[in-house]
Amino acid sequence: MMHRLFMMSLLCVLSASTLAETAPIRVLATFSILADLAHEVGGDRVVVSSLVGPDQDAHGFDPRASDIRRMSQTDLVIANGLGFDPWIARMVAAARYKGRVLTVSDGITPLMADAHDDHDDEPSGSHAHAAHGAADPHAWLDINHAKHYVGAIAATLGTLDPAGASHYADRATAYNAQLDALDAELRRRFSALPAHRRTVVTPHDAFGYFAHAYDLHFVAPAGLSNEASPSAANLAALIDQLRQLKVPVVFFESFADERLIERIRQATGARRGGLLYADALAKTGPASTYLGLMQHNAETLITGLGAP
Ligand SMILES: [Zn+2]
Repeated sequence: MMHRLFMMSLLCVLSASTLAETAPIRVLATFSILADLAHEVGGDRVVVSSLVGPDQDAHGFDPRASDIRRMSQTDLVIANGLGFDPWIARMVAAARYKGRVLTVSDGITPLMADAHDDHDDEPSGSHAHAAHGAADPHAWLDINHAKHYVGAIAATLGTLDPAGASHYADRATAYNAQLDALDAELRRRFSALPAHRRTVVTPHDAFGYFAHAYDLHFVAPAGLSNEASPSAANLAALIDQLRQLKVPVVFFESFADERLIERIRQATGARRGGLLYADALAKTGPASTYLGLMQHNAETLITGLGAP
């Protein structure tokens, strides 16, 4: 009798510990693109959700009480850093969250926004309205930085779940190989664009890293965040500049306010380019994964810029 009871309690202990080992790691990402990368690395060993979902703007996110509660049921928080999701620090404090916070941009060299922010005589293209000396947070739009993010996620998951360390490392290696292949393809295709077809007009200044990677020139009326709006003088100077450059096409962005870019389009006589995704995945369709988003943006840009 004693023996049987002992065996039963031993079985209970064993099954409880087995459960604890196989229970998925709960990951909370600040926005949809990081959630996708975490899902790619973690596979079935993780359950991932994001605070700012697809087709939503993380720049002006205001966490609700329910978001703070979600944090208390999380093993790992993944943030971008570089001022993109600064609200995460307030949430960690409010939730008294004691788990790991991984800032995936740690270790990369960020692009700095142009210091010449308010020179009306010099609408300096992609950084015309950025805050003085601010780091550009949109580092994921350079595939090589995304690979850094993936490596950081794999390493952190491996320390939280050592039994899965090789699973995470293998998945990260395989995924980064897909990113390398896409990067090589984009390099080849963008290098075929002639010099006079490399100026891209977008609503907000999100594509600095992408421009840097593929030798394009992006111009945006709003600043690094969708919330910044240009002064009338800056807007007029920008329109002048685009007229002089005879920029033939302007691009739109998911969930960004269309009015400003539409005004520029009409004032310059440019065509409507397609829709670009910068700060969030799409809910559905080709841009609903990071790889798909990069492919979709490249396709849209090459089609729009390449047309006569
Ligand atoms: Zn942005």
